[in-house]
Amino acid sequence: MRPLVATIRTDNLRHNYQQAKRLHGGKVLAVLKANAYGHHAVPCAQALQDIADGFAVACLEEAIQLRDAGIELPILLLEGVFEAAELQEVEQYDLWQVVQSELQLQMIEAATPAKPYQVWLMLDSRMHREGFLPEDYSMAWRRLQASGKVASIVKTTHFARADEPGEQMTQRQIELFDYTVRGLPGEVSLANSAAILCHLAARRDWGRVGILLYGATPLANCLELGSALRPVMRLTTRVFAVRELAAGEPIGYGDDFVTSRPTRVGLIACGYADGYPRSIVGGCAVQIHGQRARIIGRLSMDMMTVDLTDLPSAGIGSEVELWGDDVAVSEVAACAGTISYELLCNVKRAHFRFE
Ligand SMILES: *Cc1c(COP(=O)(O)O)cnc(C)c1O
Repeated sequence: MRPLVATIRTDNLRHNYQQAKRLHGGKVLAVLKANAYGHHAVPCAQALQDIADGFAVACLEEAIQLRDAGIELPILLLEGVFEAAELQEVEQYDLWQVVQSELQLQMIEAATPAKPYQVWLMLDSRMHREGFLPEDYSMAWRRLQASGKVASIVKTTHFARADEPGEQMTQRQIELFDYTVRGLPGEVSLANSAAILCHLAARRDWGRVGILLYGATPLANCLELGSALRPVMRLTTRVFAVRELAAGEPIGYGDDFVTSRPTRVGLIACGYADGYPRSIVGGCAVQIHGQRARIIGRLSMDMMTVDLTDLPSAGIGSEVELWGDDVAVSEVAACAGTISYELLCNVKRAHFRFE
């Protein structure tokens, strides 16, 4: 068996959910979109179902997967439906839906549900990705109400820059939200993970926690989380070949890397086809036998090379942590100029183990 393994610690997932819920207060949806940020949605939902208030996914297909696995908690479709025909399945599978566009609003007005829908009405508070503009929001709310097709409307918006502590935009989005929805009854949901950490004023009836659940930090300029959160995924592989090179020898594709000293090189089973970012620059590390080892040479599709010169005890068969407990996934993301979310979602071909 190829030794690339993603170990998913569901106890840590539960712990992180409870931490997020304690911080936010009220009710918190666990966001399981993109196959639970690459952690596998069904086992994550099963691990959380006795403590979570509900789940959120991107689309109908993801929700049906959870229902088919026996998940009974509320499930919110964060993007809403893509076509009117999906509304029948929303009803059949008893799902909640975001309404974020005029088209989705018209689909609901034209539908004939046997039981009214649970809707989360999205305000575009200047992230300008989805939702109704402030000038159109209360009319959209009134149309939903007047349609007779909805049972309740949760008022919601999404933040563009909550991951930048000290940035004023989030506060302005909250003020715009509160101003726009004043007088409209119903529950409110504002906070994603970053806002749960950094913006007290965003803690309302419902939080929506994604990346924190998985134990990674959403905050730019903060690679480590406090001990309050625990990494859920540990991605490991093994050294499967070792060679000794003299100084002045190239390694791998291109001329990116030439040894500057006699170097002991370990070959490990993980490459960019597994989702490890090929774009890492300068000094990205893995952890072997409790010590850091630097990745050297360009990443290949299925393998990469690491410098074992200073780790004499490491050799064929040694376990290598690519990210997890000692190497934070956000640290690797920073090396690659991306975010932990992308790395976690992209893990492919690893053997998944759940514990
Ligand atoms: C993905 C998503 C979230 C969760 O975001 P995190 O930063 O992972 O907490 C919350 N709300 C919406 C609308 C989302 O799309």
